[in-house]
Amino acid sequence: MTAPHTYLTTTIPYVNARPHIGFALELVQADVLARFWRQHGDRVRFQAGTDDNSLKNVLAAQAAGEGVREFVDRNAEAFLALGPALSLTVDDVIRTSRDARHRPGVERFWQACAATGDLYRKRYEGLYCTGCEQFYSPAELRAGHCPEHDTEPQRVAEENWFFRLSRYGDRLRAAITAGELRIEPAGRRNEVLAFIGGGLEDFSVSRPTERAGGWGIPVPGDPGQVIYVWFDALCNYVTALGYGTGGDAYQEWWAGGSRRVQLVGKGVLRFHAVCWPAMLLSSGQPLPTDIFVHDYLTAGGRKISKSSGSGADPAALAAEYGPDAVRWWLLREVPRVGDADFTVERMIARADDELANGLGNLVNRVIAMIGKYRDGRVPGRQPVPPGGENLDAAIRRAGGLIGAALEEFDFRQATAAAWAIADEANRFINRARPWELARTGCDGEGGRRLDAVLFTLFVACSALGRELAPFLPDAAARITRQCTPHGGSLPAARPVFRRLGSAG
Ligand SMILES: [Zn+2]
Repeated sequence: MTAPHTYLTTTIPYVNARPHIGFALELVQADVLARFWRQHGDRVRFQAGTDDNSLKNVLAAQAAGEGVREFVDRNAEAFLALGPALSLTVDDVIRTSRDARHRPGVERFWQACAATGDLYRKRYEGLYCTGCEQFYSPAELRAGHCPEHDTEPQRVAEENWFFRLSRYGDRLRAAITAGELRIEPAGRRNEVLAFIGGGLEDFSVSRPTERAGGWGIPVPGDPGQVIYVWFDALCNYVTALGYGTGGDAYQEWWAGGSRRVQLVGKGVLRFHAVCWPAMLLSSGQPLPTDIFVHDYLTAGGRKISKSSGSGADPAALAAEYGPDAVRWWLLREVPRVGDADFTVERMIARADDELANGLGNLVNRVIAMIGKYRDGRVPGRQPVPPGGENLDAAIRRAGGLIGAALEEFDFRQATAAAWAIADEANRFINRARPWELARTGCDGEGGRRLDAVLFTLFVACSALGRELAPFLPDAAARITRQCTPHGGSLPAARPVFRRLGSAG
């Protein structure tokens, strides 16, 4: 039997500005899943990218007085730089305007939907938000403004291509209800089901080339129109695998893969849980198996938006404080349901309290004591000493609890299970007081007790290096190095974390 193989995608952001901390959340969550599944023997392909073909990009470039190509390239680079900055194990990136794989795939997708009879031309008039790149019905607006951007939509009248979304309500409902297309958390699944229950309307999937500033992929056989940026962008999940350009990746990861897991923000839920699956059904392709929807971050109490520049820059934060501090905050503080507020102060406080004080001190003390009392030689296997039962249980349980939490996309719960090891180890060390055992002599009964305590603590540190690897890859590697003997002895104790706050 071959190992399960999972295709894991993040949404491709518009590149109308530099990335903000809110987008880093989705990347870090995906990276944790990818690392955890790989650690447990699955094959994983983690796919990311940028959405270049957006009218928003054109408008932002014009506002900046720059050429669209230079502007888009520069911002796309900033997004791609998040990979190394946040220690992400992205396997592949696609840029929708640059990548030779994309356009032929979108064209093939379009033609497949056309062949099913799901594309037709219609004259249309509606209210369009350029920020969202979508039409809104008057009922969806809030006091006449876009609910996402709080701006007044434009009235647009034009002839477009439409996609017969109305045809797919029943099939989508059936797939979601049966769990064939799993949407988490449940509140989001219910939201999608309610939306489908309200009746699906066909949606416009092209724009006049002129209004799109000539930017985008022309409709096959109709060069006066470009393909709607959302239709174009959603296709990236399969064009990146060679849908339209050939190769084995598409068959391996999409058509024949065990799981197709997609992470999305709540603002683009309908596109991913309604439009995209309908497009897949229309073109005769399998659906995603899982869609996980995360909520939004605010920064210092304010909504983060790329264009307003109010979001903290995740690459700059990682450069200054290290990727682990940024990752830890995103994973430990952001709830599975509900928004979270980011501030640099909160990130520093969390890192200093848990990483430097809780985890770093623990590893440092344990390695230093083994160095001091046992010349760096880890005592041979020992029974769990009295008082070490909770720690032993936390170590044994961590892997299973982390796996179960990540299956529910609950990153806080997952980090809590790993964290329980550090917590119990610190409690144990303070109760067992190995420094006092060492004072009573290293031989005889006291010596045997010291061995058992040191061995148990060493096992805890090794387990932390292993269990934290998906969450804190850099720190976990440092912990594992501290726990790896060379020539029979552990290396000298070195700090695993530096304190980030100025106060000592
Ligand atoms: Zn909007």
